Amino acid sequence: ERCRLVIERPLKRDNERAGGETSVLDVQALEEFFRANDIKMNHVNTVYREIFKRGRTAFWETPDIGRKTQDLLKENFVLTTSKVVEVAEAEDGSGAKLIIELKDGHRVETVIINHTHKARKRSTVCVSSQVGCAMGCTFCATGTMGLQANLTAGEIIEQVWHARQYCTPRNVVFMGMGEPMDNYEEVLVSLRGLTQQNQFNVCMDRITVSTVGVVNRIQQLADDCPEVSLALSLHSSNQALRTQIIPSGGRFTVDKLQAAIDYYIERTGRQVMLEYTLMGGLNDLPIFAKELCEFIQTRKVFVNLIPYNPTEIGALHGYMVPKDDDCIVFEDILNDFGIKTKIRWKFTGCTMRQRWCTSMW
Ligand code: SF4
Repeated sequence: ERCRLVIERPLKRDNERAGGETSVLDVQALEEFFRANDIKMNHVNTVYREIFKRGRTAFWETPDIGRKTQDLLKENFVLTTSKVVEVAEAEDGSGAKLIIELKDGHRVETVIINHTHKARKRSTVCVSSQVGCAMGCTFCATGTMGLQANLTAGEIIEQVWHARQYCTPRNVVFMGMGEPMDNYEEVLVSLRGLTQQNQFNVCMDRITVSTVGVVNRIQQLADDCPEVSLALSLHSSNQALRTQIIPSGGRFTVDKLQAAIDYYIERTGRQVMLEYTLMGGLNDLPIFAKELCEFIQTRKVFVNLIPYNPTEIGALHGYMVPKDDDCIVFEDILNDFGIKTKIRWKFTGCTMRQRWCTSMW
């Protein structure tokens, strides 16, 4: 079943950045504008062909769309509303982190992970969906900021545009700043721009939306877009321990998570990636591995075991790097139960958030 990405319901543009300049990369905004101004809809494709195939950054100069449309485009759209203000590239070529400033001055991070060094054809782009985050995960610096703003679909798409100057995006993962399910509609609209053939042309099943478990949105995503991949940051299937690590876990109880996963799997036929950060002496004990087996049972999931990557905020909570042997014991218990796993020894994902970019292989 194809994704229902053309959501005709009006977007809730209730954040301050929705006003002012609009990016021409926001396909829904461009279509709405063309419709309102009686401009032929096939000119949308013409404009994107000029930008993406011919590299025309002065997009309003697109030929064959008429002088009036050219003028309207120039008056009402910009290529990007955001700009890259800092780039930190890994010396070994394995990736880069972009700091992107939005038009209101807020800054978000976009991370590029290159799969094969030097060959830039297989890169994963990890995008942010919010400035700050309301979830307050105890190992995450973004969680200490609280929610400051939701990104618009255009601002999400622009991150991939900026990343495109450094790589060829093959996968896109919503694992940067913010909880994408809390900015659901803008995320959904951004999926459309990212997968448009005449734009970024990323395959839908190479896009992963990662959540700490907003259960109603997991179910809605399965309905709206069954082709997109889902990653769930679980970190513990023990209710008390999970709530300690992820305070919002109190709302999204493990029972509800199980029901949401079941719905997703049944509706989409896809497996769910479970992300489990192993913290020394905390959630890496065999008893919690057995509890995780009980949680998973025969569900169609794949478990990424991510040895804790030390962070300043995690240190405040006393989180420790697990011993290698304990990680292996934990994995063995899951494997003996028939659960597919992989330990991500070399953590190259979004380090602040202890998430592994699940579309990397
Ligand atoms: Fe928010 Fe993700 Fe950080 Fe949790 S890990 S606080 S969901 S950004």
